[in-house]
Order: sequence, then structure tokens, then C-alpha cells
Amino acid sequence: MEVTVKAPAKINLTLDVTGRREDGYHLIESVMQAIDLCDVVTVYKTGHSDIRLEIDDERVPDDERNTAWRAAAAFCEAAGLSTAGIGIRIRKRIPMQAGLAGGSADAAGVLVALNLLTDARLDQDALCDAGAKVGADVPFCLLGGAGLCTGTGTIVTPLPSMTDCHLVVAKPLCGVSTAEAYRRIDETTLRRRPHTSVVTDAVCAGDLETIGRELCNVFEEAIPLPETAAIRQIMREHRTLGCLMSGSGSAVYGLFGNREDARLCADALRREIDEVCLCRPCAHGPAEV
Ligand code: ATP
Repeated sequence: MEVTVKAPAKINLTLDVTGRREDGYHLIESVMQAIDLCDVVTVYKTGHSDIRLEIDDERVPDDERNTAWRAAAAFCEAAGLSTAGIGIRIRKRIPMQAGLAGGSADAAGVLVALNLLTDARLDQDALCDAGAKVGADVPFCLLGGAGLCTGTGTIVTPLPSMTDCHLVVAKPLCGVSTAEAYRRIDETTLRRRPHTSVVTDAVCAGDLETIGRELCNVFEEAIPLPETAAIRQIMREHRTLGCLMSGSGSAVYGLFGNREDARLCADALRREIDEVCLCRPCAHGPAEV
């Protein structure tokens, strides 16, 4: 028996770093939205004595360094189960080092899929607690839709998923390490901060134009990459309602009210970079296929 789920990526509509805890973790305030760009995660039973992981991208480790592997271990600990005999297969579709929470999406996918495969029946809070041990974005990836994420990112206040629209996501070749991004933030005096409550109100009201105008991520100022500036320029030439780097980068997304503008923008970007996709907001977390 096996269970397969699609695990959605996320974008940040706003991202602010509001402080630092004594243990060194940064405090953030971010409005996140799940998108229908998904990794495909399958869990199944094996005869092996430990977790087995297969992943179709050789750049990603297939051992305990992988977020999916760690999520399986966290799930078993929470459910009081042995990790023996758990198999995981991942088809990567979410670009890496992109700020799209690809690793966190896989972890959330494993938690949901194992909850369906086993008879553990952990509730959403227990899954979120297990997920938070793997990564700060995992609780949001479990809930999906839209949410205001605070604390280290693990405290999620759900919002109604943003109104349907068209998104172009482009990942330049350069990647950004999250640790390096936070080092840069600590050294930068930020001039522009997000108006988080304006964006949460606009998400609730389904006001795409205000969301587009108010998109703001402090990492754009702290990590000024020429590649992301070039992508934003092309998006603006194609009448985007707003465009922004997601998370600590390096993917950039543009928001479009109509499909044709988004398609033309994606075509123009594909002439410059390889990883470009058209997607839409997604109102849920990992779901069985
Ligand atoms: P975030 O938005 O959470 O910062 P990201 O897009 O910047 O995510 P990921 O793609 O999630 O970054 O992961 C980056 C690093 O984590 C990679 O260098 C990779 O080796 C490692 N990693 C561990 N597990 C995974 C996984 N399941 N998928 C992708 N990367 C993983």
C-alpha cells in the first residue's frame, strides 16, 4: 500500500524580519500563500530496517539531511511508531534554493501522507508540532492557503486563500543560502518595510491591486541580485500587478490579473532563464492524488 500527495510550494507576499531571539533565531512577520507548484511525495511500506528515501534530483541528499527523512522521523516520534519499514519517493518540481520552501513542502507532504498510511491519526496541531521540529516553514506548508506567520515563522494565523490570479515564478541560476541571507539582513539598515496589516486586509478583501502594490520583502534590499532585478524588469514590461523575490531568494514571482499577460511574460522570461512556471494560488496544503 502507498499514499501519494502533492505538496505545494509557497510565496511570501510580505516578509519582514522583526528581531532576533537570544538563541540566535530571527523573528519574522510574513504573509505567505501556497501555490499550485508542487513536489509529488509518495510514502509506502518496505521490508527495510530504517527509512528509505528516493529522490529524482541528485543535488538533494537522500539521507537524514533531507527534510523529508527528518519529517518521517519526527512523525514516528510523535506517533510512538518505529521508523522501520518507511519508504519515501519524491519527484522534485519546486526549484531549490529559491525561497519557495521546497524542502519544507516535502516535509509537510511526508507528514500528511504518513498520517494517511498509518493509523496514527495525529491531529493538525500534532502534525504542526512535529513539522516545526524539521523547519520553520513546515507548519505553514501543512496548512496551505494563506497565513500570517510570526515568531520564527511557526506561528500561523490562517487567512482566506488569496483571490484566484495568475502567477509567473522565475528562478535564476544563482541560488541564495538562507543562512547567508540572514547574515546580510543583520548588516543592513532597512529603508523599506512591509505594511503587513494592509496586505492581510487586502488578502481578506480579495483586493489584488492593493496586494500587488504592497508586495514587500526586506531580503530584496539586503540581497540586491542583478538577476532578480532583470526578472522584475521583464515582469513590469508585461504589466504585472506587482513582483517580488520570494523568501530569501532567489526566485521572483509576478502577480497577474489575466492569463494572457502572464503567459506572454513567462514566454519572454523563458528566453532568458530555464526555470519559469505559470501557476495559481492554492487554497490547501498537501493533498492526496
Ligand atoms: P526556503 O524558502 O524554506 O528557504 P529554499 O527554497 O530556499 O526554501 P530548499 O530548496 O527548501 O530551499 O532547500 C535548500 C537546501 O536544503 C538544499 O541545498 C538541499 O540540499 C537541502 N534539502 C534538504 N532536504 C531537501 C528537500 N527535500 N528538498 C530540497 N532541498 C532539500
